Amino acid sequence: MLQQTRVAAAIPYYKRFLHRFPEVHSLAAAPEEEVLRLWSGLGYYSRARNLQKAAQQIVPKHAGQFPKRMEDALALPGIGDYTAAAILSIAYGEKHAVLDGNVARVLARLGAIRGDLREPKRWRGLQNTADGLLEPESPGDWNQAMMELGATLCTPKSPQCLLCPIAQFCEGRKLGIAESLPEKRKKRATVEVILGAAIFTDAEGLTLLLPPPKNTKEKTGADHVPTLVSKMWHFPTFAVTGEPAANLAAFLRRIMPGVQSRKWQLIPAGKVRHAVTYRAITLFPFLIGVKKLPRVPGARQIPLSDISSLPISNLTRKVARAALEAQALAPAKR
Ligand code: SF4
Repeated sequence: MLQQTRVAAAIPYYKRFLHRFPEVHSLAAAPEEEVLRLWSGLGYYSRARNLQKAAQQIVPKHAGQFPKRMEDALALPGIGDYTAAAILSIAYGEKHAVLDGNVARVLARLGAIRGDLREPKRWRGLQNTADGLLEPESPGDWNQAMMELGATLCTPKSPQCLLCPIAQFCEGRKLGIAESLPEKRKKRATVEVILGAAIFTDAEGLTLLLPPPKNTKEKTGADHVPTLVSKMWHFPTFAVTGEPAANLAAFLRRIMPGVQSRKWQLIPAGKVRHAVTYRAITLFPFLIGVKKLPRVPGARQIPLSDISSLPISNLTRKVARAALEAQALAPAKR
C-alpha cells in the first residue's frame, strides 16, 4: 500500500482492508472484485491481485502460515527479494538483508558509489554489501534501522550528516559528495497518449461501465486501453488516432453493433490528464444522454455519481468527475 502513497493516506485503506480481511483465509476466499474495491484509489492494482493470489497459495501449500524459507517466499506471487527479506527477517528473525531505494541510497553514500544504482551489477554489489553488514543477532531490527536511517536522516535531498550515527564511516560525506549521490538515473522518455471515453447517462443518472478487460495475448502498446484502465471496470474507452468525436462514433459502432447511434448527441466534457508510469494521458470524455442505456455483453448499469462501488482505476474516477461537472453545467439531451 505504501508504494507511491504517503503513510497518512494509506492508513484508512490499511485499517479497512484488515477489518475485512483480518487473516489469510478470509483474503484467500474473497471475490477478487471485493479485494480490488477496498484497494481502489491506491493504484498499483497488480499488488492487490498478487496479495490475494499469494494468500490463495499460502492457505493450501503452507497451512495458512507465511513460509519461512527464502525460496518458498520468493515463489509466491508479488514477493520479490526485498519483500521476502523484510518479511523473513522481521517476522522470523531469518538472516536476510533488505535492499530497497532507501537502503541503497545509504549504502551508495557510505561507500561513495557512483553511477546508476539499479544497474544489475551495481545492485548486486549493494546487496553483497548489505548482506555483509547485517547484524546476525537481530536481522529484523537491523533492517528496520537501515530503512529508517534512509527515510529520516540520509534523505534524498538534504542528508543530516551531523546527526548521523554512521557519519564517521561515510566516504560520501568525507568526499563532500553525499548530496549528489546516488547519481540520477536515465529517465525513460515520456510518451503522450490520447484517449477518448463515452459516458452514457439515462434519465435516472445511470451510466454504463464495461467489465475488467480479459487477459489478451495482444502486445501492450503505450495506448493499450486495458493497461491504462488498470484492468478494472471502466467507461467505454478507445485510443484516439484522429478527430476524437469521429473516433468515438466508429468505436461505439464496433462494440455495439446494430445499436442506433446516429441521433446521439456527443457532448464534450473537457479534458482529463493522468500519468501512468512513462505515459502522459490526455483523455477526452464525451457525455451521451440516452433514454435507455445500450446493451453491451458483461457491462453494468450503475449511478454515475457512485461508480466507486465497483473497482475502478484513478483514471476512471477522474473521468467520472469531469463528466459530473460537465453534466451540472449542461445537462445532456435524451
Ligand atoms: S553521513 Fe550523511 S550521507 Fe553519510 S550515511 Fe549519514 S546521513 Fe547519509
